[in-house]
Amino acid sequence: NRDRILQSERLNVVSELAASVSHEIRNPLTVTSGFLQLLNKSGNITPEEKGYVELSLQELTRAEKIVSDYLSFAKPQSGNMVFSNMLTEAEYTKNIIMPFATIHKVDVQFHFTNTLNTSYDKNQIQQCLINLYKNGIEAMKEKEGGTLTIQISENKQNIIISIRDTGVGMTKEEISRLGKPYYSTKEEGTGLGMLMVYSTVDKLKGDIEVESEKGRGTTFLITIPAGDPSP
Ligand code: ADP
Ligand code: MG
Repeated sequence: NRDRILQSERLNVVSELAASVSHEIRNPLTVTSGFLQLLNKSGNITPEEKGYVELSLQELTRAEKIVSDYLSFAKPQSGNMVFSNMLTEAEYTKNIIMPFATIHKVDVQFHFTNTLNTSYDKNQIQQCLINLYKNGIEAMKEKEGGTLTIQISENKQNIIISIRDTGVGMTKEEISRLGKPYYSTKEEGTGLGMLMVYSTVDKLKGDIEVESEKGRGTTFLITIPAGDPSP
């Protein structure tokens, strides 16, 4: 169990670091990329210069990606804390992800039954769900589509969130790497999405079960204990 404690400490360090860095970095990234886009439209630059500008824009997009995967690592902020069921968050983030799903020919099924309430940070849960939905959709890229099934329910004193995709799936070894910082098999991946997911669920004393079959798809089953309103 020493491993688990070490892992937990590591997550805390990462989360504090991210909290202080992400907000300050976002604005300059947006401003710089805005000016570069203007420059790119100018008729006075050579094709070679245009190439440099485009490369810079690409790199800025990559930096932006890293920040957005990191952002909600931030320590829970009291302003974001709610006592609610996660249905609102699951539905809201489903709507955010719909255009991305449509582009990738992914059909999204959403099922829910009553869920219990617990205290959580709204932004963190939203980011966490987006990361999971995105991974599911990205896993169906090479298969040129599929189905993402999102289910929210309750069982005993727990909130159950299940996210299933019909994507490429993972081997046992690949599953064991999930949540390690910078582990990614994608060309443009950050390898920070699942770290954020594990860290968030960990803070809520929840549990993540991964079931996957190579070539068939993956299910993430998240169990979070319901809590009382005053943590
Ligand atoms: P990224 O998405 O930037 O690669 P993540 O931390 O979100 O980083 O995911 C890490 C890796 O875990 C992915 O690159 C992928 O190999 C694997 N993975 C995560 N979710 C799934 C999924 N639903 N199906 C298949 N592989 C997945
Ligand atoms: Mg990801």
